[in-house]
Amino acid sequence: MVKDGVGLGTIVIADKFPDPPVRFAAEELKRYIFEMSDVILPVRRGAARGPSVVISSAGKAGPKVTSGALPSDEEDAYCLKSVGRNLYLSGASPRAALYAVYTFLEKLGCGFCVPGEDTVPRKRSITAPHLNMLEVPAFEFRSHIDNPFRDPFPIEGNVAVIDWLAKNRFNWYHPVTNCTGEPEFYYRHRELISSQLAKRGLCLQVGGHTMQTWLPENKYFASHPEYYSLVDEDGEGAESVRKAPSACISSPGGRRTVIRNICNFLDRCPEVDAVDIWDADMVCYCHCSKCLQGVTTSRMDGWRKRGQLIGAYAETLEEEILRSAYTSSFIGFLNAVARGVKKKHPNVVISSAIYGQTGVPSLYSCEKLENNVALEVAHLPRDSFVPLAGEPRSELNRRWIATDLTWMEKGDRVGVYEYYHSWTGSVVYPQVNVIAEDLRFLHQIGVRRIVTDQGGWSPTNIYAAARLLWNPNKPWHDLIKDFCRRYYGRAAAKMEKYWLNLEDGMRGKEGFFGELAPIFGGQPYEGHRESRSWLLSKRKHFVKRLKAILQVTKDPVTKRRLER
Ligand SMILES: [Zn+2]
Repeated sequence: MVKDGVGLGTIVIADKFPDPPVRFAAEELKRYIFEMSDVILPVRRGAARGPSVVISSAGKAGPKVTSGALPSDEEDAYCLKSVGRNLYLSGASPRAALYAVYTFLEKLGCGFCVPGEDTVPRKRSITAPHLNMLEVPAFEFRSHIDNPFRDPFPIEGNVAVIDWLAKNRFNWYHPVTNCTGEPEFYYRHRELISSQLAKRGLCLQVGGHTMQTWLPENKYFASHPEYYSLVDEDGEGAESVRKAPSACISSPGGRRTVIRNICNFLDRCPEVDAVDIWDADMVCYCHCSKCLQGVTTSRMDGWRKRGQLIGAYAETLEEEILRSAYTSSFIGFLNAVARGVKKKHPNVVISSAIYGQTGVPSLYSCEKLENNVALEVAHLPRDSFVPLAGEPRSELNRRWIATDLTWMEKGDRVGVYEYYHSWTGSVVYPQVNVIAEDLRFLHQIGVRRIVTDQGGWSPTNIYAAARLLWNPNKPWHDLIKDFCRRYYGRAAAKMEKYWLNLEDGMRGKEGFFGELAPIFGGQPYEGHRESRSWLLSKRKHFVKRLKAILQVTKDPVTKRRLER
């Protein structure tokens, strides 16, 4: 393509009417070739003349040399194929054509390891290697939760995350606004966010904990207290007080209001593909007889004291029974909202989470999900450094398998919500080996949708996860090696050993990653379990190693990356 600083090749767009992601794919290829070599390659439309890189998104209708290879029912499939003096980068969809270009750039030595921190090698000559590869994702729905418009370490902006997602072949972007009332900061940034997504062909899901977005107490509580949950405030055993932020999900007026407010939001934001209705991020929920389906609570000893544990499993059988009853009602509520929204917005998916007050296995009595409903089973808490299945065995993790399987029976859009990042501020969350084992297992049991949460940025985890979502059989240590090679320059070998030692040390130790928070200045946590103790005991040793690597590192970019 480039020889001794002279351009020889052409970038050709084969599509007759190329979609924005295809045009962007050609521009990206041109930009990175220039960054590598200072050479600007021409971009043309039509057929290849002379040595060319041919980009196409037409799938089966695309160039003959690749059309046979692409499966017709996999919109994210793409292939890279050398024929004669040409290289064909073909996707089954516009987004997949962009994936093909980024994969090719990685073959040329580029690294897209961390948002906003590309690695681009300098070259006088660029020769495309001989390629013949087809990529089909093992997981069709690969979504990333972003806590938008804050400054999660080390990301400078949400746009950098979107850029990273396309480069790492995710297909959904999911900002969680978690707001009370109108999602104002989504409105403020939506033009920028949606234009960045459209350019890359990525889908958009908006929301998070949105019960208060669709049913804000400051707007409705005074006139309609019956929209809100009935609770026992003094713990004396009588549910007598209406309270936000949770809703009485059985209230017909409340349901109508939620439907109306979601429709208003979608009227204003037609770029949204899926919208959330998650319950409040605390374990409070309505105890009226309708929401609890007649299950009485007066003899339930001790459940009220466990009312505020966020995201935790029910700790008593009594609490589990109540949550199960409530969850069944919640699915009825979700389906009703989905039917209501569908009348006006038939293509939008209504999404919710099995989490906190709904964090239970599904019951037989629970309705099937409407076909425009998606459900994400959040594995929180779990033993973060122990695989879901296999050895060592974790009873806590095993429960999630049962929860996943029972919910998967309820609909086609049921996925797993994992925590490949740590929101404790910790970057030291070595879990790649567990992610690999989990994804192999989840794929085996038929899970095809994976969502991952973000708060901090755990670079090796998410880099490896992105690749394992396409092929969970990739050896995990190779992925760490690949990350280090592309990210740490001359310190790669030492940093690979550093990460592998952390992975080996934490592997199999019980504990939840949230318990690591105090080590990194977060809120104290009661647990003092194996994983935390091990990290505390080794902390000095690992810091010392990192300092030693820093001392011999001269390259300023690598230095900056290590200092993180
Ligand atoms: Zn109720």
